[in-house]
Amino acid sequence: MEQSPEFKAQVRLLADAGRELAERGWLPARTGHFSARLDDQHIVITAPGRGKDLLDAHDFMVVDLEGHLISGSGDPGPETFLHIIMYRHDPKLGAVLHTHSVHGTVLSRQVAGTLLLRDYEALRELPGCEHPSRGLQIPVFANHPDMQQLAAQVDAAMTRNPELAGYLINGHGLYTWGQTVELAMQRTEAFEFMFECETLARQLVV
Ligand SMILES: [Zn+2]
Repeated sequence: MEQSPEFKAQVRLLADAGRELAERGWLPARTGHFSARLDDQHIVITAPGRGKDLLDAHDFMVVDLEGHLISGSGDPGPETFLHIIMYRHDPKLGAVLHTHSVHGTVLSRQVAGTLLLRDYEALRELPGCEHPSRGLQIPVFANHPDMQQLAAQVDAAMTRNPELAGYLINGHGLYTWGQTVELAMQRTEAFEFMFECETLARQLVV
């Protein structure tokens, strides 16, 4: 599978995404992870603990949608399930990106339950937004020590709102996704832009 054109193409896109997101400072201390779909049963995902600025094929694992390691070095960590549930949920989903930015982390600790993003033009980059003035509710989940339980909560939120574009984990970071790596990148940038605006705006109000 590591020789397949799909694997090589997705690894190249994820490596480019990793370099860009690392340069922006959204992946401190080798955190964050990314995945992309290979076929209806397999994804490629970053192995835990790798720096994301210089990723190559050795930094990725292939896992199936049950969480089994198919190829590559590393141990599919518990957060792998937060990726897998997304692909199981939506057969058209192509990529999931997870960042640990300062603004996303600070904001996630200030709100409980949901974060309302409203009146940002960047909302137009996300599904489910009729108009920026209507806003978008983003779930903020507790950073549950049992990742399977957190995955079940995310799954329930996806079922309630199939147009959900992303979510925060308290004190942890952002998960967002799209049909392609490029689209997931665009959404990451839109979210992170709004997190930064929101954090600055709250500082001004205090
Ligand atoms: Zn994380």
